[in-house]
Parts: sequence; C-alpha cells; structure tokens
Amino acid sequence: MIRCRDVVDLLDRLVERHGLTGETLARMDLHLHDCPPCREFVHSYRHMLEGARLVPPPELPPEVALRILDAVRTEIARDPHPAEGPQG
Ligand SMILES: [Zn+2]
Repeated sequence: MIRCRDVVDLLDRLVERHGLTGETLARMDLHLHDCPPCREFVHSYRHMLEGARLVPPPELPPEVALRILDAVRTEIARDPHPAEGPQG
C-alpha cells in the first residue's frame, strides 16, 4: 500500500524512473491517480527539475571566487563578536 509519505520518500526515484521495481511504480501511479495533491506535488517537482536543468548554475571564475572568499574573511575578521568561541 502506497501512502502519501511514501510518494514523498520515493519522489526523486519516481521522477527519474529508476531504483524502483515495476510493481512499486505501478502502485505509485495508482496512488497518484487517486490522490490529486500527490499528483500535483510530483508534477511540480518534475517541473522544478526541468527548470533546474535548463538554467545551469553560473560558473564563477576562480579569481572572483577568491575575491569573494577574501571579502568574507575580512568581514569575519572585522566582527568584534565572533559567533565561535575564543580563538586567540
Ligand atoms: Zn497521496
């Protein structure tokens, strides 16, 4: 018996259609057929994945990454009340 939380647990495998037996997939489809919220959930997730594939994360040139890292370090060094314990 597939329940809503099983759909959530198996969501990524369900969308990619791998790592699940044909029987599980069939049960999932049956649940999705009877459960509009889950159907909507899977639909949105799939949509989100497709969107993520279409827009790859921006590549940061190493010098820019280093500059950001440097700025962050400076910012941390300037903080008079570091969140971490005493470090000398
Ligand atoms: Zn459901």
